[in-house]
Amino acid sequence: MTAETFEFQVEARRLLQMMVHSIYSNKDVFLRELISNASDALDKLRIEALRDDTLDADVSDLHIDIETDKDARTLTVRDNGIGMSRDDVVGLIGTIAKSGTAEFLQKLTEAREAGNTAAAEGLIGQFGVGFYSAFMVADEVTLLTRRAGETTGTRWSSTGEGTYTVETVDDVPQGTAVTLRLKPVDNDNRLFDYTSPWKIKEIVKRYSDFITWPIRLITASGEKKDEDGKDGEKSEPETINSRQALWARPRNEVSDEEYHELYKHISHDWTDPLETIRIHAEGTFEYQALLFLPAQPPRDLFSSGKRGVQLYVKRVLIMEDCEELVPPYLRFVKGVVDAQDLSLNISREILQQDRHIQMMRRRLAKKVLSTIKEMRTRQPEKYTTFWREFGPVVKEGLLNDFENRDAILAACSFVTTHDAEKPATLQEYVERMKEGQEHIFYLTGPSRAAVENSPHMEAFREKGLEVLVLTDPVDELWVDAVPEFQGRKLRSIAKGEAELGTAEEKEQAKAEREQQRQEYADLLAWLGERLGDEVKEVRLSSRLTTSPACVVSDTDDVTPGLRNMLRAMGQ
Ligand code: ADP
Ligand code: MG
Repeated sequence: MTAETFEFQVEARRLLQMMVHSIYSNKDVFLRELISNASDALDKLRIEALRDDTLDADVSDLHIDIETDKDARTLTVRDNGIGMSRDDVVGLIGTIAKSGTAEFLQKLTEAREAGNTAAAEGLIGQFGVGFYSAFMVADEVTLLTRRAGETTGTRWSSTGEGTYTVETVDDVPQGTAVTLRLKPVDNDNRLFDYTSPWKIKEIVKRYSDFITWPIRLITASGEKKDEDGKDGEKSEPETINSRQALWARPRNEVSDEEYHELYKHISHDWTDPLETIRIHAEGTFEYQALLFLPAQPPRDLFSSGKRGVQLYVKRVLIMEDCEELVPPYLRFVKGVVDAQDLSLNISREILQQDRHIQMMRRRLAKKVLSTIKEMRTRQPEKYTTFWREFGPVVKEGLLNDFENRDAILAACSFVTTHDAEKPATLQEYVERMKEGQEHIFYLTGPSRAAVENSPHMEAFREKGLEVLVLTDPVDELWVDAVPEFQGRKLRSIAKGEAELGTAEEKEQAKAEREQQRQEYADLLAWLGERLGDEVKEVRLSSRLTTSPACVVSDTDDVTPGLRNMLRAMGQ
Protein backbone atom coordinates (compact mmCIF):
# COMPACT_ATOMS: atom_id res chain seq x y z
CA MET A 1 0.00 0.00 0.00
CA THR A 2 1.23 3.49 -0.69
CA ALA A 3 2.42 5.69 2.05
CA GLU A 4 0.59 8.88 2.85
CA THR A 5 2.58 11.92 3.88
CA PHE A 6 1.39 14.20 6.65
CA GLU A 7 2.71 17.40 8.08
CA PHE A 8 3.41 17.68 11.74
CA GLN A 9 1.20 20.05 13.60
CA VAL A 10 3.10 23.34 14.01
CA GLU A 11 3.96 22.89 17.65
CA ALA A 12 5.04 19.30 17.19
CA ARG A 13 7.33 20.44 14.40
CA ARG A 14 9.01 23.06 16.51
CA LEU A 15 9.45 20.67 19.39
CA LEU A 16 10.93 18.09 17.08
CA GLN A 17 13.36 20.57 15.65
CA MET A 18 14.62 21.17 19.13
CA MET A 19 14.92 17.47 19.79
CA VAL A 20 16.77 16.87 16.53
CA HIS A 21 19.22 19.61 17.36
CA SER A 22 19.33 18.20 20.78
CA ILE A 23 19.14 20.62 23.60
CA TYR A 24 19.01 18.03 26.30
CA SER A 25 22.41 16.86 27.45
CA ASN A 26 21.25 13.63 29.04
CA LYS A 27 20.29 11.78 25.88
CA ASP A 28 20.17 8.38 27.59
CA VAL A 29 16.66 9.13 28.80
CA PHE A 30 15.25 8.49 25.32
CA LEU A 31 15.45 4.77 26.13
CA ARG A 32 13.71 5.24 29.45
CA GLU A 33 10.86 6.96 27.57
CA LEU A 34 10.50 4.23 24.96
CA ILE A 35 10.57 1.50 27.61
CA SER A 36 8.06 3.42 29.68
CA ASN A 37 5.70 3.59 26.69
CA ALA A 38 6.19 -0.12 25.98
CA SER A 39 5.47 -0.97 29.60
CA ASP A 40 2.33 1.19 29.55
CA ALA A 41 1.22 -0.63 26.40
CA LEU A 42 1.64 -4.02 28.08
CA ASP A 43 -0.24 -2.84 31.16
CA LYS A 44 -3.06 -1.55 29.00
CA LEU A 45 -3.32 -4.80 27.10
CA ARG A 46 -3.48 -6.88 30.25
CA ILE A 47 -6.08 -4.63 31.82
CA GLU A 48 -8.16 -4.66 28.66
CA ALA A 49 -7.90 -8.45 28.43
CA LEU A 50 -9.05 -8.75 32.05
CA ARG A 51 -12.12 -6.62 31.32
CA ASP A 52 -12.98 -8.05 27.93
CA ASP A 53 -12.53 -11.77 27.45
CA THR A 54 -13.63 -11.56 23.82
CA LEU A 55 -10.55 -9.49 22.94
CA ASP A 56 -8.65 -11.37 20.28
CA ALA A 57 -5.18 -10.86 21.66
CA ASP A 58 -2.26 -12.91 22.84
CA VAL A 59 -1.37 -12.14 26.43
CA SER A 60 0.59 -15.29 27.16
CA ASP A 61 4.13 -13.96 26.94
CA LEU A 62 4.23 -10.21 27.40
CA HIS A 63 7.64 -8.61 27.26
CA ILE A 64 9.79 -5.80 25.94
CA ASP A 65 12.65 -6.54 23.58
CA ILE A 66 15.50 -4.19 22.88
CA GLU A 67 17.32 -5.20 19.75
CA THR A 68 20.54 -3.55 18.71
CA ASP A 69 22.40 -3.98 15.45
CA LYS A 70 25.84 -2.49 15.43
CA ASP A 71 26.41 -2.92 11.72
CA ALA A 72 23.14 -1.41 10.64
CA ARG A 73 23.38 1.06 13.55
CA THR A 74 19.79 0.56 14.57
CA LEU A 75 18.08 0.12 17.87
CA THR A 76 14.57 -1.31 18.18
CA VAL A 77 12.31 -1.29 21.20
CA ARG A 78 9.53 -3.80 20.70
CA ASP A 79 6.57 -4.71 22.84
CA ASN A 80 3.67 -7.08 22.26
CA GLY A 81 1.24 -4.85 24.10
CA ILE A 82 -1.92 -3.00 23.12
CA GLY A 83 -0.51 -1.42 19.95
CA MET A 84 -2.08 1.46 18.04
CA SER A 85 -4.64 1.74 15.28
CA ARG A 86 -3.89 3.95 12.30
CA ASP A 87 -5.97 6.73 13.79
CA ASP A 88 -4.16 6.34 17.10
CA VAL A 89 -0.84 6.74 15.35
CA VAL A 90 -1.83 9.91 13.55
CA GLY A 91 -3.57 11.33 16.61
CA LEU A 92 -1.03 10.38 19.25
CA ILE A 93 2.26 10.65 17.46
CA GLY A 94 1.66 13.43 14.94
CA THR A 95 0.24 15.95 17.35
CA ILE A 96 1.04 17.27 20.74
CA ALA A 97 -2.18 17.29 22.66
CA LYS A 98 -0.66 18.83 25.73
CA SER A 99 -2.12 22.12 26.66
CA GLY A 100 0.33 24.92 27.22
CA THR A 101 2.62 23.70 24.44
CA ALA A 102 2.77 27.04 22.67
CA GLU A 103 3.62 28.85 25.86
CA PHE A 104 6.21 26.20 26.71
CA LEU A 105 7.86 26.56 23.31
CA GLN A 106 7.97 30.30 23.67
CA LYS A 107 9.83 30.03 26.96
CA LEU A 108 12.10 27.38 25.54
CA THR A 109 13.03 29.53 22.56
CA GLU A 110 13.74 32.48 24.82
CA ALA A 111 15.96 30.38 27.06
CA ARG A 112 17.89 29.06 24.09
CA GLU A 113 18.31 32.46 22.50
CA ALA A 114 19.62 33.77 25.78
CA GLY A 115 22.10 30.91 25.69
CA ASN A 116 20.70 29.56 28.92
CA THR A 117 21.05 25.81 28.44
CA ALA A 118 20.31 24.97 32.05
CA ALA A 119 16.98 26.76 31.87
CA ALA A 120 16.19 25.09 28.55
CA GLU A 121 16.87 21.65 30.03
CA GLY A 122 14.81 22.48 33.05
CA LEU A 123 11.91 23.36 30.78
CA ILE A 124 12.21 20.18 28.71
CA GLY A 125 12.36 18.26 31.96
CA GLN A 126 9.20 19.92 33.17
CA PHE A 127 7.39 19.40 29.92
CA GLY A 128 8.50 15.86 29.14
CA VAL A 129 8.49 14.95 25.50
CA GLY A 130 8.20 11.16 25.66
CA PHE A 131 8.28 9.53 22.27
CA TYR A 132 9.85 12.54 20.54
CA SER A 133 12.97 12.23 22.67
CA ALA A 134 14.00 9.43 20.27
CA PHE A 135 15.01 12.17 17.84
CA MET A 136 17.78 13.21 20.19
CA VAL A 137 19.74 10.14 19.14
CA ALA A 138 18.18 9.08 15.84
CA ASP A 139 18.00 10.68 12.42
CA GLU A 140 15.09 8.50 11.49
CA VAL A 141 12.43 6.83 13.59
CA THR A 142 10.13 4.11 12.28
CA LEU A 143 7.21 2.74 14.22
CA LEU A 144 5.45 -0.45 13.24
CA THR A 145 2.34 -1.27 15.17
CA ARG A 146 -0.83 -3.29 15.25
CA ARG A 147 -3.56 -2.81 17.76
CA ALA A 148 -4.60 -5.93 19.67
CA GLY A 149 -7.79 -7.29 18.12
CA GLU A 150 -7.25 -5.60 14.74
CA THR A 151 -5.97 -7.32 11.62
CA THR A 152 -3.96 -4.70 9.78
CA GLY A 153 -1.03 -2.77 11.05
CA THR A 154 0.47 0.68 10.49
CA ARG A 155 3.93 1.91 9.70
CA TRP A 156 4.86 5.44 10.73
CA SER A 157 8.15 6.98 9.79
CA SER A 158 9.85 10.33 10.08
CA THR A 159 13.22 12.00 10.03
CA GLY A 160 11.91 14.60 12.43
CA GLU A 161 11.94 17.36 9.82
CA GLY A 162 8.52 18.63 8.82
CA THR A 163 6.60 15.57 7.79
CA TYR A 164 5.91 11.94 8.56
CA THR A 165 4.55 9.10 6.49
CA VAL A 166 1.85 6.64 7.42
CA GLU A 167 1.19 3.42 5.63
CA THR A 168 -1.17 0.52 6.24
CA VAL A 169 0.62 -2.83 6.24
CA ASP A 170 -0.30 -6.47 6.63
CA ASP A 171 1.44 -9.10 8.69
CA VAL A 172 2.44 -6.92 11.58
CA PRO A 173 2.87 -8.64 14.95
CA GLN A 174 0.61 -7.41 17.72
CA GLY A 175 2.12 -4.50 19.63
CA THR A 176 4.60 -1.82 18.69
CA ALA A 177 8.17 -1.79 17.45
CA VAL A 178 10.03 1.51 17.40
CA THR A 179 13.21 1.40 15.32
CA LEU A 180 15.79 4.17 15.55
CA ARG A 181 18.37 4.75 12.88
CA LEU A 182 21.05 6.03 15.21
CA LYS A 183 23.06 9.13 14.51
CA PRO A 184 26.75 8.45 13.94
CA VAL A 185 28.70 7.83 17.12
CA ASP A 186 30.99 10.54 18.12
CA ASN A 187 34.37 8.81 17.88
CA ASP A 188 35.73 10.78 20.79
CA ASN A 189 32.91 9.61 22.89
CA ARG A 190 32.22 5.92 22.39
CA LEU A 191 30.42 6.02 25.71
CA PHE A 192 27.33 7.02 23.81
CA ASP A 193 27.13 4.11 21.43
CA TYR A 194 23.57 2.92 21.84
CA THR A 195 24.28 -0.31 20.02
CA SER A 196 26.64 -1.37 22.75
CA PRO A 197 25.12 -4.03 25.04
CA TRP A 198 26.95 -2.50 27.99
CA LYS A 199 25.46 0.86 27.35
CA ILE A 200 21.94 -0.54 27.07
CA LYS A 201 22.33 -2.59 30.24
CA GLU A 202 23.62 0.40 32.11
CA ILE A 203 20.71 2.58 31.03
CA VAL A 204 18.10 -0.08 31.80
CA LYS A 205 19.64 -0.73 35.20
CA ARG A 206 19.62 2.96 36.01
CA TYR A 207 16.19 3.94 34.74
CA SER A 208 14.00 0.94 34.17
CA ASP A 209 15.09 -1.87 36.46
CA PHE A 210 11.80 -1.95 38.37
CA ILE A 211 9.65 -2.34 35.27
CA THR A 212 7.65 -5.44 36.04
CA TRP A 213 7.73 -6.79 32.48
CA PRO A 214 10.84 -8.61 31.28
CA ILE A 215 13.13 -6.33 29.31
CA ARG A 216 15.22 -8.52 27.06
CA LEU A 217 18.31 -7.57 25.14
CA ILE A 218 18.99 -9.07 21.74
CA THR A 219 22.09 -8.15 19.78
CA ALA A 220 22.32 -8.62 16.05
CA SER A 221 25.22 -8.15 13.70
CA GLY A 222 26.44 -9.11 10.25
CA GLU A 223 25.05 -8.60 6.81
CA LYS A 224 21.44 -9.36 6.06
CA LYS A 225 21.64 -12.81 4.52
CA ASP A 226 18.60 -13.97 2.66
CA GLU A 227 16.07 -12.19 0.47
CA ASP A 228 13.37 -11.78 3.07
CA GLY A 229 15.78 -9.72 5.10
CA LYS A 230 16.49 -12.17 7.90
CA ASP A 231 19.30 -10.94 10.06
CA GLY A 232 22.69 -12.53 10.03
CA GLU A 233 23.52 -13.30 13.65
CA LYS A 234 21.17 -12.82 16.55
CA SER A 235 21.86 -13.46 20.18
CA GLU A 236 19.50 -15.28 22.51
CA PRO A 237 17.29 -12.80 24.39
CA GLU A 238 18.79 -11.93 27.76
CA THR A 239 16.57 -10.46 30.47
CA ILE A 240 18.37 -7.41 31.82
CA ASN A 241 16.04 -5.96 34.46
CA SER A 242 15.57 -7.43 37.90
CA ARG A 243 11.79 -6.80 37.75
CA GLN A 244 11.62 -6.38 41.46
CA ALA A 245 8.79 -4.20 42.64
CA LEU A 246 10.43 -1.31 44.49
CA TRP A 247 7.68 -1.17 47.07
CA ALA A 248 8.34 -4.77 48.05
CA ARG A 249 12.05 -4.24 48.59
CA PRO A 250 13.41 -3.19 51.98
CA ARG A 251 13.75 0.56 52.31
CA ASN A 252 17.50 0.50 52.93
CA GLU A 253 18.16 -1.41 49.73
CA VAL A 254 16.48 1.08 47.44
CA SER A 255 18.14 4.35 46.49
CA ASP A 256 16.29 7.62 46.17
CA GLU A 257 17.17 7.62 42.47
CA GLU A 258 15.36 4.32 42.00
CA TYR A 259 12.27 5.68 43.69
CA HIS A 260 12.46 8.77 41.53
CA GLU A 261 12.65 6.73 38.34
CA LEU A 262 9.53 4.84 39.35
CA TYR A 263 7.84 8.17 39.95
CA LYS A 264 8.84 9.40 36.51
CA HIS A 265 7.52 6.27 34.90
CA ILE A 266 4.09 6.45 36.49
CA SER A 267 3.67 10.20 36.36
CA HIS A 268 5.21 10.82 32.91
CA ASP A 269 6.95 13.70 34.63
CA TRP A 270 10.63 14.32 33.91
CA THR A 271 11.33 16.05 37.19
CA ASP A 272 12.12 14.38 40.52
CA PRO A 273 9.30 14.26 43.05
CA LEU A 274 9.46 16.40 46.17
CA GLU A 275 8.71 13.61 48.57
CA THR A 276 8.45 9.83 48.64
CA ILE A 277 6.07 8.18 51.10
CA ARG A 278 6.20 4.50 51.98
CA ILE A 279 3.48 2.55 53.70
CA HIS A 280 3.78 -1.05 54.69
CA ALA A 281 0.60 -2.42 56.22
CA GLU A 282 0.64 -5.84 57.80
CA GLY A 283 -2.14 -7.77 59.45
CA THR A 284 -5.42 -9.06 58.13
CA PHE A 285 -5.30 -6.91 55.04
CA GLU A 286 -1.78 -6.58 53.80
CA TYR A 287 -0.67 -3.95 51.37
CA GLN A 288 2.24 -1.78 50.40
CA ALA A 289 2.12 1.70 49.04
CA LEU A 290 4.64 4.05 47.51
CA LEU A 291 3.30 7.54 47.08
CA PHE A 292 4.93 10.63 45.67
CA LEU A 293 4.35 14.34 46.04
CA PRO A 294 5.28 15.98 42.72
CA ALA A 295 7.37 19.13 42.56
CA GLN A 296 5.11 20.74 40.00
CA PRO A 297 1.46 20.43 39.15
CA PRO A 298 0.23 18.62 36.05
CA ARG A 299 -1.36 20.91 33.51
CA ASP A 300 -4.85 19.56 34.15
CA LEU A 301 -4.78 19.90 37.94
CA PHE A 302 -7.83 22.12 38.01
CA SER A 303 -9.60 20.85 34.92
CA SER A 304 -9.62 17.14 35.54
CA GLY A 305 -10.45 15.12 38.61
CA LYS A 306 -8.08 12.37 37.49
CA ARG A 307 -6.26 10.67 40.37
CA GLY A 308 -2.73 9.41 40.07
CA VAL A 309 -2.55 6.21 42.08
CA GLN A 310 -2.29 2.79 40.47
CA LEU A 311 -3.76 -0.30 42.09
CA TYR A 312 -1.80 -3.54 41.93
CA VAL A 313 -2.85 -6.90 43.26
CA LYS A 314 0.14 -9.08 44.15
CA ARG A 315 2.46 -7.21 41.73
CA VAL A 316 -0.06 -7.14 38.90
CA LEU A 317 -1.37 -3.75 37.82
CA ILE A 318 -5.13 -3.91 37.68
CA MET A 319 -6.20 -0.27 37.60
CA GLU A 320 -4.64 3.03 36.67
CA ASP A 321 -5.79 6.36 38.12
CA CYS A 322 -7.69 4.52 40.83
CA GLU A 323 -10.20 7.05 42.17
CA GLU A 324 -11.17 4.94 45.12
CA LEU A 325 -7.73 5.18 46.68
CA VAL A 326 -7.38 8.92 47.20
CA PRO A 327 -9.85 11.72 47.85
CA PRO A 328 -10.21 14.36 45.10
CA TYR A 329 -8.25 16.99 47.02
CA LEU A 330 -5.20 14.72 46.94
CA ARG A 331 -5.50 14.07 43.21
CA PHE A 332 -1.94 15.26 42.59
CA VAL A 333 -0.50 12.38 44.62
CA LYS A 334 1.11 9.80 42.34
CA GLY A 335 2.04 6.28 43.22
CA VAL A 336 1.34 2.64 43.58
CA VAL A 337 -0.71 0.59 46.01
CA ASP A 338 -0.18 -3.14 45.98
CA ALA A 339 -2.73 -5.20 47.90
CA GLN A 340 -2.43 -8.89 48.73
CA ASP A 341 -6.02 -9.99 49.01
CA LEU A 342 -8.12 -8.51 46.25
CA SER A 343 -9.55 -10.22 43.23
CA LEU A 344 -7.69 -9.52 40.00
CA ASN A 345 -10.82 -8.62 38.12
CA ILE A 346 -12.43 -6.50 40.79
CA SER A 347 -14.74 -3.89 39.28
CA ARG A 348 -14.95 -0.20 40.08
CA GLU A 349 -18.40 -0.70 41.63
CA ILE A 350 -17.12 -3.32 44.03
CA LEU A 351 -14.04 -1.26 44.84
CA GLN A 352 -16.25 1.61 45.91
CA GLN A 353 -17.96 -0.52 48.52
CA ASP A 354 -15.02 -2.60 49.63
CA ARG A 355 -14.30 -2.08 53.30
CA HIS A 356 -10.60 -2.70 52.88
CA ILE A 357 -10.31 -0.20 50.09
CA GLN A 358 -12.01 2.39 52.27
CA MET A 359 -9.58 1.60 55.06
CA MET A 360 -6.65 2.03 52.71
CA ARG A 361 -8.01 5.29 51.39
CA ARG A 362 -8.30 6.64 54.89
CA ARG A 363 -4.82 5.56 55.84
CA LEU A 364 -3.28 6.97 52.66
CA ALA A 365 -4.96 10.35 53.13
CA LYS A 366 -3.83 10.58 56.75
CA LYS A 367 -0.30 9.63 55.84
CA VAL A 368 -0.09 12.18 53.03
CA LEU A 369 -1.44 14.93 55.27
CA SER A 370 0.95 14.12 58.09
CA THR A 371 3.82 14.05 55.61
CA ILE A 372 2.92 17.53 54.40
CA LYS A 373 2.73 18.76 57.96
CA GLU A 374 6.10 17.27 58.79
CA MET A 375 7.62 18.70 55.66
CA ARG A 376 6.62 22.13 56.90
CA THR A 377 8.63 21.82 60.09
CA ARG A 378 11.52 19.75 58.76
CA GLN A 379 12.00 21.09 55.25
CA PRO A 380 10.37 24.52 55.08
CA GLU A 381 11.73 25.29 51.62
CA LYS A 382 10.29 22.15 50.11
CA TYR A 383 7.06 22.84 51.88
CA THR A 384 6.92 26.36 50.46
CA THR A 385 7.29 25.01 46.93
CA PHE A 386 4.71 22.36 47.59
CA TRP A 387 2.22 24.67 49.20
CA ARG A 388 2.47 27.28 46.46
CA GLU A 389 1.56 24.67 43.84
CA PHE A 390 -0.84 22.41 45.70
CA GLY A 391 -2.15 24.37 48.69
CA PRO A 392 -5.27 25.51 46.83
CA VAL A 393 -6.11 21.88 46.02
CA VAL A 394 -5.48 20.58 49.53
CA LYS A 395 -7.77 23.29 50.95
CA GLU A 396 -10.63 21.87 48.85
CA GLY A 397 -10.59 19.03 51.38
CA LEU A 398 -11.80 21.42 54.07
CA LEU A 399 -15.12 21.59 52.24
CA ASN A 400 -16.01 17.93 52.52
CA ASP A 401 -13.54 15.71 54.34
CA PHE A 402 -14.85 16.25 57.84
CA GLU A 403 -12.99 13.31 59.25
CA ASN A 404 -9.62 14.75 58.29
CA ARG A 405 -10.42 18.40 58.81
CA ASP A 406 -7.95 18.85 61.65
CA ALA A 407 -5.24 17.02 59.78
CA ILE A 408 -5.83 19.20 56.73
CA LEU A 409 -5.78 22.38 58.78
CA ALA A 410 -2.54 21.24 60.39
CA ALA A 411 -0.99 20.91 56.94
CA CYS A 412 -2.22 24.34 55.80
CA SER A 413 -0.39 27.61 56.10
CA PHE A 414 -1.66 31.11 55.47
CA VAL A 415 -0.19 34.48 54.72
CA THR A 416 -0.97 36.75 57.63
CA THR A 417 -0.42 40.36 58.54
CA HIS A 418 1.91 39.28 61.35
CA ASP A 419 4.76 38.57 58.98
CA ALA A 420 3.86 38.72 55.32
CA GLU A 421 6.95 36.70 54.38
CA LYS A 422 6.28 33.84 56.75
CA PRO A 423 2.98 32.02 56.31
CA ALA A 424 1.56 30.70 59.56
CA THR A 425 -0.58 27.80 60.67
CA LEU A 426 -3.84 28.43 62.48
CA GLN A 427 -2.16 27.00 65.55
CA GLU A 428 0.50 29.70 65.41
CA TYR A 429 -2.17 32.32 64.86
CA VAL A 430 -4.10 31.21 67.92
CA GLU A 431 -0.97 31.21 70.04
CA ARG A 432 -0.36 34.84 69.06
CA MET A 433 -3.92 36.01 69.66
CA LYS A 434 -4.26 39.19 71.74
CA GLU A 435 -5.85 39.09 75.14
CA GLY A 436 -9.55 39.48 74.76
CA GLN A 437 -9.47 38.52 71.07
CA GLU A 438 -12.20 35.99 70.51
CA HIS A 439 -12.03 35.28 66.83
CA ILE A 440 -9.63 34.32 64.11
CA PHE A 441 -9.81 37.26 61.71
CA TYR A 442 -9.41 36.94 57.99
CA LEU A 443 -10.00 38.90 54.85
CA THR A 444 -10.45 37.37 51.41
CA GLY A 445 -9.67 39.05 48.13
CA PRO A 446 -8.29 38.56 44.65
CA SER A 447 -4.68 39.33 45.51
CA ARG A 448 -2.41 40.05 48.42
CA ALA A 449 -2.13 43.69 47.53
CA ALA A 450 -5.90 44.04 47.35
CA VAL A 451 -6.34 42.45 50.75
CA GLU A 452 -3.43 44.15 52.47
CA ASN A 453 -4.45 47.60 51.24
CA SER A 454 -8.12 47.14 51.97
CA PRO A 455 -9.56 49.86 54.19
CA HIS A 456 -11.00 47.06 56.34
CA MET A 457 -7.48 46.36 57.50
CA GLU A 458 -6.84 49.75 58.98
CA ALA A 459 -8.23 49.36 62.48
CA PHE A 460 -6.82 45.85 62.79
CA ARG A 461 -3.40 47.04 61.85
CA GLU A 462 -3.66 49.91 64.29
CA LYS A 463 -4.59 47.56 67.12
CA GLY A 464 -1.91 45.07 66.15
CA LEU A 465 -4.50 42.37 65.47
CA GLU A 466 -3.35 39.68 63.11
CA VAL A 467 -5.48 38.99 60.02
CA LEU A 468 -5.25 36.04 57.64
CA VAL A 469 -4.75 37.20 54.06
CA LEU A 470 -6.73 34.73 51.95
CA THR A 471 -6.42 35.05 48.20
CA ASP A 472 -7.26 31.65 46.66
CA PRO A 473 -10.81 31.30 45.29
CA VAL A 474 -11.34 28.22 47.46
CA ASP A 475 -10.65 30.33 50.56
CA GLU A 476 -14.02 32.01 50.20
CA LEU A 477 -15.65 28.63 50.56
CA TRP A 478 -13.73 26.85 53.26
CA VAL A 479 -13.91 29.72 55.72
CA ASP A 480 -17.65 29.16 55.78
CA ALA A 481 -17.34 25.38 55.90
CA VAL A 482 -14.98 25.37 58.88
CA PRO A 483 -17.02 26.63 61.83
CA GLU A 484 -14.10 27.01 64.22
CA PHE A 485 -10.56 26.13 65.09
CA GLN A 486 -9.82 25.23 68.71
CA GLY A 487 -13.02 26.88 69.78
CA ARG A 488 -12.26 30.11 67.90
CA LYS A 489 -14.64 31.16 65.19
CA LEU A 490 -13.31 32.42 61.92
CA ARG A 491 -14.53 35.92 61.29
CA SER A 492 -14.24 37.99 58.15
CA ILE A 493 -13.23 41.54 58.89
CA ALA A 494 -15.28 42.67 55.93
CA LYS A 495 -18.52 41.46 57.43
CA GLY A 496 -20.70 43.00 60.14
CA GLU A 497 -19.47 44.95 63.14
CA ALA A 498 -15.76 44.83 63.67
CA GLU A 499 -15.28 43.56 67.18
CA LEU A 500 -11.97 44.86 68.34
CA GLY A 501 -10.29 45.11 71.66
CA THR A 502 -11.15 43.87 75.13
CA ALA A 503 -14.62 43.83 76.63
CA GLU A 504 -13.97 47.14 78.37
CA GLU A 505 -12.70 48.81 75.24
CA LYS A 506 -15.72 47.53 73.40
CA GLU A 507 -18.06 49.00 75.98
CA GLN A 508 -16.30 52.31 75.73
CA ALA A 509 -16.32 52.24 71.97
CA LYS A 510 -20.01 51.46 72.01
CA ALA A 511 -20.75 54.46 74.18
CA GLU A 512 -18.62 56.68 71.97
CA ARG A 513 -20.33 55.37 68.91
CA GLU A 514 -23.73 56.03 70.39
CA GLN A 515 -22.71 59.58 71.06
CA GLN A 516 -21.28 59.99 67.58
CA ARG A 517 -24.37 58.44 66.06
CA GLN A 518 -26.45 61.19 67.59
CA GLU A 519 -23.97 63.83 66.50
CA TYR A 520 -23.89 62.56 62.95
CA ALA A 521 -27.52 61.47 62.71
CA ASP A 522 -28.37 64.16 60.16
CA LEU A 523 -25.40 63.39 57.95
CA LEU A 524 -26.12 59.66 58.02
CA ALA A 525 -29.75 60.20 57.16
CA TRP A 526 -28.79 62.51 54.32
CA LEU A 527 -26.21 60.02 52.96
CA GLY A 528 -28.72 57.21 53.23
CA GLU A 529 -31.20 59.19 51.20
CA ARG A 530 -28.70 60.22 48.55
CA LEU A 531 -27.37 56.69 48.07
CA GLY A 532 -30.89 55.28 48.05
CA ASP A 533 -31.05 51.72 46.69
CA GLU A 534 -27.29 51.44 46.33
CA VAL A 535 -26.85 50.54 49.99
CA LYS A 536 -28.83 48.92 52.76
CA GLU A 537 -27.72 51.24 55.49
CA VAL A 538 -25.21 53.98 56.22
CA ARG A 539 -23.61 53.69 59.62
CA LEU A 540 -20.68 54.99 61.60
CA SER A 541 -17.77 52.65 61.87
CA SER A 542 -14.84 52.20 64.20
CA ARG A 543 -12.94 50.11 61.77
CA LEU A 544 -11.41 52.87 59.69
CA THR A 545 -8.54 55.06 60.76
CA THR A 546 -7.47 56.92 57.64
CA SER A 547 -10.11 56.23 54.96
CA PRO A 548 -13.30 58.27 55.31
CA ALA A 549 -15.70 55.47 54.27
CA CYS A 550 -15.91 51.91 53.05
CA VAL A 551 -18.48 49.45 51.80
CA VAL A 552 -19.16 46.40 53.99
CA SER A 553 -21.44 43.42 53.62
CA ASP A 554 -23.78 41.88 56.18
CA THR A 555 -22.46 38.92 58.12
CA ASP A 556 -24.34 36.44 55.97
CA ASP A 557 -23.83 38.08 52.62
CA VAL A 558 -21.38 36.57 50.18
CA THR A 559 -18.17 38.55 49.87
CA PRO A 560 -17.55 40.38 46.60
CA GLY A 561 -14.78 37.92 45.65
CA LEU A 562 -17.00 34.91 46.11
CA ARG A 563 -19.77 36.62 44.22
CA ASN A 564 -17.36 36.90 41.29
CA MET A 565 -16.32 33.31 41.58
CA LEU A 566 -19.91 32.06 41.69
CA ARG A 567 -20.72 34.25 38.72
CA ALA A 568 -17.76 32.71 36.86
CA MET A 569 -19.17 29.28 37.67
CA GLY A 570 -22.47 30.36 36.13
CA GLN A 571 -24.46 30.64 39.35
P1 ADP B 1 3.03 9.90 27.17
O1 ADP B 1 3.65 8.54 27.36
O2 ADP B 1 3.40 10.84 28.27
O3 ADP B 1 1.56 9.85 26.89
P2 ADP B 1 4.57 9.86 24.76
O4 ADP B 1 5.06 10.92 23.83
O5 ADP B 1 5.63 9.01 25.40
O6 ADP B 1 3.69 10.56 25.85
O7 ADP B 1 3.59 8.92 23.96
C1 ADP B 1 2.44 9.45 23.34
C2 ADP B 1 1.36 8.40 23.18
O8 ADP B 1 1.67 7.48 22.12
C3 ADP B 1 1.16 7.52 24.40
O9 ADP B 1 0.29 8.14 25.33
C4 ADP B 1 0.53 6.27 23.80
O10 ADP B 1 -0.86 6.43 23.64
C5 ADP B 1 1.15 6.21 22.42
N1 ADP B 1 2.27 5.25 22.42
C6 ADP B 1 3.58 5.54 22.47
N2 ADP B 1 4.32 4.41 22.47
C7 ADP B 1 3.45 3.37 22.43
C8 ADP B 1 3.58 1.94 22.42
N3 ADP B 1 4.77 1.35 22.49
N4 ADP B 1 2.44 1.20 22.36
C9 ADP B 1 1.23 1.80 22.31
N5 ADP B 1 1.04 3.12 22.33
C10 ADP B 1 2.13 3.91 22.39
MG1 MG C 1 5.64 8.14 27.38
